[in-house]
Amino acid sequence: MSSAEVLQGGLDLLAVALLALGIKGLSKIRSARAANRLAASAMGLAVVGLLINAHPTAVTWIWIAGGTAVGGVLGALTARLVPMTAMPETVALFNGCGGLSSLLVALGVMLAAKGEGLTPSLLVLISVGLSVVVGAITCTGSVVAMGKLQGWLTTPGWMMRRWRHGCNIALATGVLMAAVLTVVGSSDALWPLVIGASLLGIGLTLPIGGADMPVVISLLNSYSGVAAAAAGFVVGQRLLIVAGAMVGAAGLILTQVMCAGMNRSLTAVLFGGALGVASAGSKENSEYTNITSCSAEECALTLEAAERVVVVPGYGLAVAQAQHTLREVARLLEKHGVAVTYAIHPVAGRMPGHMNVLLAEADVPYEQLKEMDVINSEFPATDVVLVLGANDVVNPQAKTDPDSPLYGMPVLDVQEARTVFVVKRSMGAGYSGIKNDLFERPNTSMLFGDAKQVLSNVLGELKVLGVGQ
Ligand code: NAP
Repeated sequence: MSSAEVLQGGLDLLAVALLALGIKGLSKIRSARAANRLAASAMGLAVVGLLINAHPTAVTWIWIAGGTAVGGVLGALTARLVPMTAMPETVALFNGCGGLSSLLVALGVMLAAKGEGLTPSLLVLISVGLSVVVGAITCTGSVVAMGKLQGWLTTPGWMMRRWRHGCNIALATGVLMAAVLTVVGSSDALWPLVIGASLLGIGLTLPIGGADMPVVISLLNSYSGVAAAAAGFVVGQRLLIVAGAMVGAAGLILTQVMCAGMNRSLTAVLFGGALGVASAGSKENSEYTNITSCSAEECALTLEAAERVVVVPGYGLAVAQAQHTLREVARLLEKHGVAVTYAIHPVAGRMPGHMNVLLAEADVPYEQLKEMDVINSEFPATDVVLVLGANDVVNPQAKTDPDSPLYGMPVLDVQEARTVFVVKRSMGAGYSGIKNDLFERPNTSMLFGDAKQVLSNVLGELKVLGVGQ
């Protein structure tokens, strides 16, 4: 073993350790930023290891360094320019890029071997088959997922029909046959394999409803890890194998957590498709009869008299970018002696951890964030609940109405508190598109308006009352 190989091995080992620490750190808001840096350094070390042990020609180095620079600049620009609300689409695009890279690596190795008249080993052939199939499905599936989340794509009518399952099964059978032919050494099957798997990615993702899309994105994230691990076997890179396996496992765990949060089975998400739960759209709902609305002044007066206040953030808070104003309101109340906590529903917002990230941006102390299971038992002893741009996650019908599309989804029992203020712009529905019984409860008051504007008004009223001054 050459000294360059030994050095690369050492760097790979260090990178794996940093990557593992990074993934662990991402599970806590406080350590997430540092964890991200650790994982990025791990990738940096991997590139250095490659450069040290690469074929010592200027061309090889230029390709590696050039690719790293282009990818790094694009990543940095994306991190700066993309707003939080567009993060699911961005993650989808990144997954697609991961799938495409693995696909291209496998294709490159096969085409190079064909050009030189060599037959790769059985392990490499199996890995190529896996990289191409999973990579192509991930790539086209992720592009479709991004298009659907952006509103660029909708499910065509014929995709709503059950016979689409027949088409997908036929495609999957073709892909399997092409994969077997590739593994036994027929290079002619390679392009049909690429095309079939790409079509399968579209066929599997296009019928899936918008509300289920973040679950699919997390599953595609897992696939991109599997494809990368397979590509690692193709090019004999240990680090790629380990990192791919970590991403694959993490994506699968996240998928399970999200399915549990929405009370949907993975099978229902994948094969229920457009026949499943209704998706996005803020439909105006005229069925409401007993609605009480109030002013920012009344809300401020109730908050001033409260001892315990629970804030329930939802998607609308992110849309309004009202987290900083919310933090100012909370600071005043805390100075006044009010205990303020935040109830975090696992699928509030539009991506896992959306609310945690949003509140962390405004420096909300992590200890004040409470998981749904913990906070639900505390609502009966709560004076005021402030629901900010949240809807489905506080809909009591999820527990009471077996016909509701939300039935079975765990929700925050805010109606158990003494007073509930719901801040939103209209009587429009949430993501599920259905009515919310909470708005008609006798202890609920609606505060209509953009969350940031309403919170600024409440802040102004609290200052007039001298709260926290
Ligand atoms: P939601 O049910 O979609 O409701 C958001 C509410 O915010 C809407 O009713 C809207 O009402 C209001 N709103 C929008 N813009 C606003 C603004 N500028 N100011 C004030 N209010 C505003 O959101 P959620 O309660 O957070 O529930 C999340 C939903 O997404 C669930 O159905 C969940 O299953 C789904 N989902 C989440 C994930 C995830 O990973 N987090 C994944 C998949 C699906 P108005 O239009 O009247 O203002």
